[in-house]
Amino acid sequence: MFGYDAFRGQQAEIIETVVAGGDALVLMPTGGGKSLCYQVPALVRPGTGVVVSPLIALMQDQVDALAALGVRAAFLNSSQSLDQRREVEAAYLAGALDLLYLAPERLNVADTVRLLKGGEISLFAIDEAHCVSSWGHDFRPDYLALAMLHDQWPDVPRIALTATATAATAAEIVTRLRLDDAAQFVASFDRPNIEYRIVAKDNPRTQLLTLLRTEHAGDAGIVYCLSRKSVEQTAAFLEQQGITALPYHAGLDAGVRARNQSRFLREPGLVMVATIAFGMGIDKPDVRFVAHLDLPKSVEGYYQETGRAGRDGAPATAWLAYGLADVVSQRKFIDSSEGDAAHRRRLSAHLDAMLALCETVECRRVQLLAYFGQAAEPCGNCDTCTSPPQTWDGTVPAQKLLSAVWRLADRRQRYGAGHVVDILLGQATERVTQLGHTDLTVFGIGTELDAGEWRSVVRQLLAQQLLGVADGYGTLMLTPGSTAVLRGERTVALRREAPKTARSSGRRKS
Ligand code: ADP
Ligand code: ZN
Repeated sequence: MFGYDAFRGQQAEIIETVVAGGDALVLMPTGGGKSLCYQVPALVRPGTGVVVSPLIALMQDQVDALAALGVRAAFLNSSQSLDQRREVEAAYLAGALDLLYLAPERLNVADTVRLLKGGEISLFAIDEAHCVSSWGHDFRPDYLALAMLHDQWPDVPRIALTATATAATAAEIVTRLRLDDAAQFVASFDRPNIEYRIVAKDNPRTQLLTLLRTEHAGDAGIVYCLSRKSVEQTAAFLEQQGITALPYHAGLDAGVRARNQSRFLREPGLVMVATIAFGMGIDKPDVRFVAHLDLPKSVEGYYQETGRAGRDGAPATAWLAYGLADVVSQRKFIDSSEGDAAHRRRLSAHLDAMLALCETVECRRVQLLAYFGQAAEPCGNCDTCTSPPQTWDGTVPAQKLLSAVWRLADRRQRYGAGHVVDILLGQATERVTQLGHTDLTVFGIGTELDAGEWRSVVRQLLAQQLLGVADGYGTLMLTPGSTAVLRGERTVALRREAPKTARSSGRRKS
């Protein structure tokens, strides 16, 4: 039916489990082949397979693709007219559907439950199951109601699937969806063909252009930006440089979005410049690079976004440029975010993990996989492996910087990294002079490093949580860890910044 020669990875085992009526939790990276794990059992077992998916925009495509294979599939969501819905409902009740896709909010409606009771269900597939986890980065309250599937249909097998798999998320999926008896299938999360590179941001558009021109001329790729404005500016910039680039963000007209998405999927060599609104469920195998011009909010998000590169198994690049301003703006976002203190702590923990990945001196892949609970050996296919960063003893500079932060903290004012660095370098800028900071004992004590090096020290101390950001203005503050450094009770190892070439860190010459 699907035209494949063999099952991939754990597909066969998973399918057998569900066909036999058992529950399953499937943790498999993007592109791993999760869909088949519920589509085949839905065809084998009597009745209709009900697929809960938040990806409303993709339902039509999925259903069309299945129809082309001869699978009887349909969906119910808010985009349909009453007549269209009636037609699908009738087909379901008549037992004429193999698969029925539903948006999660549908299941919160009593009518839907009544409708489903009127037909025969072969299984429930809960796609993007991490959306049930409040710990995760993509929480959707509608998913909480899915716990009722177990009570309402105790004999119908349930299969939950996600590409996000920290131990905490998996545990929460099990509890919240009441999948205690589910067999768990955890695929390797490694994507060996993706080369991970993280560079210090320094005129990011030019850095991006160099990457595209020197390594990815004519390749299809995705460039992620945090804001809609920067999406549009970056796309326009690339167009000016002769690179065909399309913008995509939630603020664009639905028609424009759909057109850009379908051009990206169909035409070769296009660059999609997008916010993270783009990409979930996109199946384009030959994306050769994913570039981030801003720091992702979590390692899960970063992993999912970069995972869209190289699904065909051929070499692909995951490239990220990040700088201090990213850290500051994300702190600001966290501080101003709705929700309780626990929620903000969670967002902070996500950001800290992302920073640690950026500043690690170890193999990026080892660090990334460790985050998902998987052990690995240094990979030889990431920037820290191909040109290992040298480390240096940064204890003394760290002490100087922390002392400056400490002296300034006394004055109940807001001083970001720029001001602190000016003071360390002994630069009597207007602001420094006006505030009388030329008189501070720390004024001019840090001339052994230049401004760029100091900013790197700040980033790394933040990543190591030896320094904190107090507010959305980027005011630096001491942390419990700072005290130990200031007292000389601990040393600080720092990575030496790679020279600013296009590759940021060249591939090892052999
Ligand atoms: P996921 O949902 O895990 O991201 P998909 O189910 O979309 O992944 O599958 C990713 C790609 O792999 C699709 O193009 C799909 O057609 C293909 N695929 C899935 N299973 C197999 C298989 N057993 N053999 C060959 N190709 C497969
Ligand atoms: Zn590596």
